[in-house]
Amino acid sequence: MPETQKSSNRTLTMKFGGTSVGSPEAITNAIKIIQDTLTDWPRLAVVISAMSGVTNLLLDGANRATQGEQEHISETEETLLEKHGSIAETVISNKTKRQQIMGEISDLVDVFGSTCRAIAVLGEATPRAMDTIASLGERMSVRLFSAALESAGTPSCFVEATKLIETDHQYQAAHPDFESTTKKTRAVLHPILAQGQVPIVTGFIGAAPDGVITTLGRGGSDYSAAIIGAVLPADEVWIWTDVNGVMTADPRTVPEAQTLPQITYREVAELAYYGAKVLHPKTIRPVVESGIGLRICNTFEPKHPGTRLVNDSNNGKKPNGDEVIKAVTAIRAQKLVTIEGRGMLGVPGVAARAFGAVASTGTSVPLITQASSEQSICFAVPVEVAEKVLSALKKTFEEEIAIRDIDRVWTTEEVSIITVVGKGMKDTPGVAGRIFSTLGNEGVNVLAIAQGSSEVSISLVVIAEDTENAIKSLHKIILANKK
Ligand code: ASP
Ligand code: MG
Repeated sequence: MPETQKSSNRTLTMKFGGTSVGSPEAITNAIKIIQDTLTDWPRLAVVISAMSGVTNLLLDGANRATQGEQEHISETEETLLEKHGSIAETVISNKTKRQQIMGEISDLVDVFGSTCRAIAVLGEATPRAMDTIASLGERMSVRLFSAALESAGTPSCFVEATKLIETDHQYQAAHPDFESTTKKTRAVLHPILAQGQVPIVTGFIGAAPDGVITTLGRGGSDYSAAIIGAVLPADEVWIWTDVNGVMTADPRTVPEAQTLPQITYREVAELAYYGAKVLHPKTIRPVVESGIGLRICNTFEPKHPGTRLVNDSNNGKKPNGDEVIKAVTAIRAQKLVTIEGRGMLGVPGVAARAFGAVASTGTSVPLITQASSEQSICFAVPVEVAEKVLSALKKTFEEEIAIRDIDRVWTTEEVSIITVVGKGMKDTPGVAGRIFSTLGNEGVNVLAIAQGSSEVSISLVVIAEDTENAIKSLHKIILANKK
């Protein structure tokens, strides 16, 4: 159903990110979007992030407290009060209301200060304490935003998601329990929606069954919106961010990049993984599983249709030319690690031990390739951990190296992983050929290749200096197909 059609009993969840609530102008703009949307969607639940920069400020303050930097704590307290206070001044017109909200925000700032002072004394911060501190940004922003919305004439209240989202105790990356979350969310939000109020809900946070605050992981407000949308249930979830949806490439690298009107969940999963930063990767599962429509739109260009995420079936239509390759992205600052040796041929367990060694360093691996000769295994790791990974591998394979079953364990210079995404690749022969001839013509040397078995993406490794050139020339294939 198009958004313009009246859908009075339908429910919408939308989420505004940090930049969309980070200044008086942004808040005024977000309020206008909410008010415009209410005409078509009177049942509207809004999830918001902390104001831009606030979560970093809080966590940075806590980290410095572990180093005993006491003076920094008061500086951060002042910055937090100033940041929220100056915005409240502009967006909450009623003085009494403004003072009340600033009083509540100041209490939360006190929680920051006292927790950090305790951390400074102890010299360490537990993950639990870090979550308490990280949660404060959203707990402050919902109060301010909800009051601003009321000030603009729309009935609203704020809700802390500790009352809605029940999680396990895995601090900093908590998992929601959907059963209890469904019960709690409905019990709290349905009456608010029924009264015609717009609940402003904290993104990012939840609570364990004993009530202790947890967070869902950095950037987790998107995920919060998806969880709340899935359990309400909402008919659609709209993520308002600061770009025009999912683009064919990062516009900072490729100014000609265009918005993709539509992309499948599987394709966007590849993109999210590869740093498109548009959507938190965990956002997808709750909405796909509940069959809820997901849309990504730009707060600063609200009339732009943005990108709609659709199911993989594509309504049974075969992809046409322009859908074969949809987007190209890069993960920068990687190194390739290679383990090579003739003695590895046919020996089971080498890969398991190799990745066991990598895992022991706490590193996750974005790309792996092995040639069928079995004489080398090659994978990518971030530049900053390459040395650590290398010594873990040398230690694990000490014996094999001594008897020359393994000849060499080594890393390349800095490389980038370029990923080309498009589900049409599956049914279209020759796409890989086109990709490689394009790069060949540009003089870009490909060091390693991996294709996911889903055939939704192909990843290529190139030396760091070739990154821009590779992305730009591959993006030309996308543009040429659109003509
Ligand atoms: N405020 C949190 C963060 O900065 C969550 C979010 O913005 O999505 O990670
Ligand atoms: Mg974000």
